[in-house]
Order: sequence, then structure tokens, then C-alpha cells
Amino acid sequence: MADIIQLLPDHVANQIAAGEVVQRPASVVKELLENAIDANASSIKLIIKDGGKTLIQVVDNGLGMSTTDARLSFERHATSKISCAEDLFNLHTKGFRGEALASIAAIAHVEMNTRRSNDELGTQIKIEGGRLVSQEVAASPTGTSIAVKNLFFNIPARRNFLKSNQVEHRHITDEFQRVALAHPGVEFLYYSNGSLLFNLPPTEYRKRIVQIFGRKSNEKLVPVSEEVPQIKISGFVCKPEFAKKSRGEQFFFVNNRFIKSSYLHHALVSAFEGLIRQDYIPGYFIYLELDPASIDINIHPTKTEIKFEDEHSLYAFLRSAVRHSLGQFNVSPMLDFERDANLDTPYHYKNKDADLPHITVDSSFNPFKSPKPGGFMGSREKKSTEGWENMYIGLESGMGQEMTTHTGSSGLARSEGELFTESVPSQVSTLQLGRKYILATIKSGLLVIDQQRAHQRVLYERLLKRMTLKETVSQQLLFPLVLSYSPDEIVLLKEMHTDLVDLGFSFEEWEEGQVKIKGIPPLMKEDHVGMVLDELISNYKEKFHGTDYSQTDTLAKAVSKTMAVKNGEVLDSSAQVALVNDLFSCKEIDRSPFNKPIFVTISEKDIENKFN
Ligand code: ADP
Ligand code: MG
Repeated sequence: MADIIQLLPDHVANQIAAGEVVQRPASVVKELLENAIDANASSIKLIIKDGGKTLIQVVDNGLGMSTTDARLSFERHATSKISCAEDLFNLHTKGFRGEALASIAAIAHVEMNTRRSNDELGTQIKIEGGRLVSQEVAASPTGTSIAVKNLFFNIPARRNFLKSNQVEHRHITDEFQRVALAHPGVEFLYYSNGSLLFNLPPTEYRKRIVQIFGRKSNEKLVPVSEEVPQIKISGFVCKPEFAKKSRGEQFFFVNNRFIKSSYLHHALVSAFEGLIRQDYIPGYFIYLELDPASIDINIHPTKTEIKFEDEHSLYAFLRSAVRHSLGQFNVSPMLDFERDANLDTPYHYKNKDADLPHITVDSSFNPFKSPKPGGFMGSREKKSTEGWENMYIGLESGMGQEMTTHTGSSGLARSEGELFTESVPSQVSTLQLGRKYILATIKSGLLVIDQQRAHQRVLYERLLKRMTLKETVSQQLLFPLVLSYSPDEIVLLKEMHTDLVDLGFSFEEWEEGQVKIKGIPPLMKEDHVGMVLDELISNYKEKFHGTDYSQTDTLAKAVSKTMAVKNGEVLDSSAQVALVNDLFSCKEIDRSPFNKPIFVTISEKDIENKFN
């Protein structure tokens, strides 16, 4: 039989390699930005169109290339950054594999213009799908410009696999921010679909963070700085009260390269022990500098994960550096306290007055108009009571007598108790357990309700209804709030505008980086607005990366989450009763908007069994 193995032609090999290097437009952005940094550029411009699907262009004022180098740069394993294996252990550049340009050129239309400062004329090269289309002498500015058009034009399966322009754009912005944060001394300009999104003049680390994340980020930052011969740690952590439930502003850089490390993340989170709730994540911008020989960057094709020689010491060193600066800057007066973080209420809830679950009083409510037997509370939002009835099966007859202790009226401003028929448990007995559960007696036993989830459900249904029916109500603020946001947060706020208006917000861009808020949803407290919007933005950002996405639903969920009473809050008896009543006028009573069970029942039988 004939031999059957053959060597793949270069352009096929490059296409295959491209699959590893280029997952999406953002990967191209990362490679091109890093090449510009490696070429010592002091100013870098990123231009994208349609989430990078139509165009990704990076223009730098760096070293440029000779004509031969320009041509060679598109060959696989062509690199100026290493020449022997030993060099791998002394890397000071981002790139070294020499496959990025070859891979990108294999799957797109690429045009490069480049000139070194001492050369009179530059070079222009066009390559499509790995094939050279033209190479010419051209007058070009010093530095290099690489334009990548029609990514994946020859791999339809990959092109179809790309997400919406907005999602791809978001990934690109993430990459851009990582590179810009790692190199504050370099000027960056970022244009998307013709508009300038980020304009970052050269500066130092702290100001670069503020340039990217907006003025308000400045007050959040606590400097971290520690040095031993093998390693230097610098950067910032965000004060504990700014920790969020969702991921977002977590950045590690090793020798100015953004990396992901769940191990180091853990070290950082553990340094915040006792200062933030267990499920909260602190923000951080940590820069590590260590000997390139003590790390191995080579383990991941896109190079965001690295291996450290002595991980354990690094962990301990990082943790103590962060604890040290938290202590030094007096953000952690109780550092040495052994506390159960679970019992802590999050910081922003500590200072607020204990408020009741928000109750809407329907002023047009007429108790005499809805005397549906079995109707619960004359149900303000909803006339049907299936939910409640299912729960209280067999109850109707003797409700009044069963409920012996009276712990509160309905929680409404007026006392309605006497207006209801006997069958209505307007005097439901409740008790709060562990500042977390509401116990309510029902005929067949005991109901244990998770207060936070119950309130989320109540708020969620109200918000959803208001948004879908466009029954917008807004409380106008006497003095408008002015809040500052980063450029990409402003973009997100604009994207969410319609839904935010449906929720009851009214706002406009005030001046660059600032938004003037004139109206907010009813029931929302003014001093919560900033927090709620922050959470909405980060929620929206996260959801956007997912596939099934319904904006209205996401917003209703996010708002219900931020506005709901939290575990740990004391509810007085009228608030407890109101919450129970509100819950049972919901369409769905047993699951929170996040699909968690809201209550459990303990039957009389269960209790009896315990005594046997
Ligand atoms: P690597 O960065 O791993 O060396 P690339 O494929 O990204 O591989 O680039 C190949 C080579 O092309 C680089 O080593 C560098 O010499 C040259 N090059 C790429 N981009 C630029 C640029 N913007 N300015 C100057 N030289 C560049
Ligand atoms: Mg490179």
C-alpha cells in the first residue's frame, strides 16, 4: 500500500493554528495591542467597527519594520523576540511565539503599513486568507498600522459562531482595558464605529484606573505596596464597602501582563476575611513584578494563565501585603477580630435606617369591592388568589379561630383588620427567626419563609408588571443627582435607557463622564440610587455575555435583588405580616426570581413525629 501521510500546506496549517490563537475579534485586538507595546510604542490607537467583525485596526508609533521583516512577520514561527530556548526564561515581551500575525492573516483580509523612523519610505503589504495580494513601497508615518477586515471570512462556521456586535464589542473593551491598565505610560485612543470611546493620555497607575473606571473609582482605591528581593507587589485594592456580588474589577498583572489566577484570587479574597460578606468579591488592581525565570507563561495558548515557581510563598506574601495595607489605611479597624462573616450585614446596609419592606398602598383600593370569599387581603395587586389558596387548602373554614395570637395588622397604613371577612387571615401570626426567616402559622402547621427571597419575588413581579405594561411611575427628585461613570458604563446606560425609563428612572448625560438623574423609581431611596445603578450595570454586563437574554427580565431581577430586604435585617411585626401577605398575592409564590425556594412548610405531623 502507498504511504498516506503528507505535510499540510502552510495556509492550512496556519488556519488550524488560527483556531487556537483567534477565538474572536477580541483575541486579534489583544495580539495587535501587545505587538504595539512590544514595539515600544508610546501612543496606540485602536479602531473597531461592528464589534470587530468588519474592522479591527491598531495604529502605533513604535519601531516599525523593514520591508523584509514586514513580509516575514506573517510567516509562522517568525519572531524577533526570542532566538533560542534559553530566551524563553528571560522574556520581557508580550509575544514570543511568532504565530499571531500568521494566524490572523490566514483567516482575514489584512493590510499592514509600516515604517522605521530612519527609513525614508515604508512598506505596505496586503494578505488575504494567508495569500500575499500585494507588497508595495509606501509613504507611511513612523510605526505600524495593521488593519484586519472580515475576520473568519473563509471559515463561515466560525464567523456564524460569533456573538452579537455588542457582545463582541464588550469582549474587545475588556481586552483593551487590560492592556491599557498594564501600561499607563502609553497613550491609548479607542474608537468604535466612529466615536471615541476612550481617550487615555499617558499617566501613572492610579490615574489610569480612574481614566478607565470613572472619577468615582478614585475614592475606592487603597494602595498596596510591598517588596522583597524576589518579588514586588504594587497596585490597589478597593475598600471593602465597594465589594460586589458579581465579578468585574479584578485584575492581576504579572510583569505588566494581565493574567488570571484563581489561586491568587483566593489569596486576595482571603485577605478581606471578616471585612466583607462571604459571597462578595473585592475589587483589585494588583501588579506583581518577579524574575521572568520564576514563571512559565507558556502553558496556555492565549497566555492568560501562568505557572509560578513558588506559589505558596507568593500566596502568603500577597495576602499579607493586602491585609497590611487594609490595616494601615484604617479600613479594617476590626482586622484581628474573629467574626463570622456570614453574620455581617453588608456595609451599605449598616448605616441605613431599618426600613420596612416597601408596601404600595393602592389608594383606590376599596375593600368592599373585592369581597371574594377566600380572597387574601383583598389582594392589592392581583385579584386571583390561586397561589394563596393552594397554600392554605382546608383553611377557609376556621381561619379566624386558628390564628390565636395577633401580632400585627396588615401592615398597611390604615387598620383594615375589621374590614375583612372571617375567612381572610388578615391577622396572620408571624415571628422572625434569626433575622432571616419569617415564621407563619397555618392550619396544617408552620410556614418558614425566607424574607429576602420573598421580598425579591414581590418586588420582581411588581417591577415586571410595571415595565411590561409601561405603567411608568417616577418620583421626581427635587435636587437631581449627578453621578459619574466611566465611558463604557455610559455606553451601557445608554443601551439600557428605554428599560431604565420604564422602571421609573429619568436621566440625561450631564457632562462628560457624568449623568444627571432627575427621576427614580418609586420606593427607591435616593441614597441607594448609585448602588442600584452600579449593580444594574454590572448585572447587565454579565448577562450580556450569556446567550438567552431578556433585558426587561434582567433589570427587574437586578432591581428586586438590590431593593429587597436582606437577611440580617430586623423586620417589625407589621412588616412581617405585610411581607407574607404580599407574597401570597404574587403569581408565583414558591420560587424567588432566581429560582430558589421561598418557603418550606413544617406540618403538624412533622412536629408530632418529633415528639415520638
Ligand atoms: P510575536 O509577537 O510572538 O513575535 P507576531 O506574529 O505577533 O509574533 O509578530 C511577529 C513579529 O512581527 C514580531 O516578532 C515583531 O518583530 C513583528 N511585529 C509585529 N507587530 C509589530 C508592530 N506593531 N511593530 C513592529 N513590529 C511588529
Ligand atoms: Mg505578537
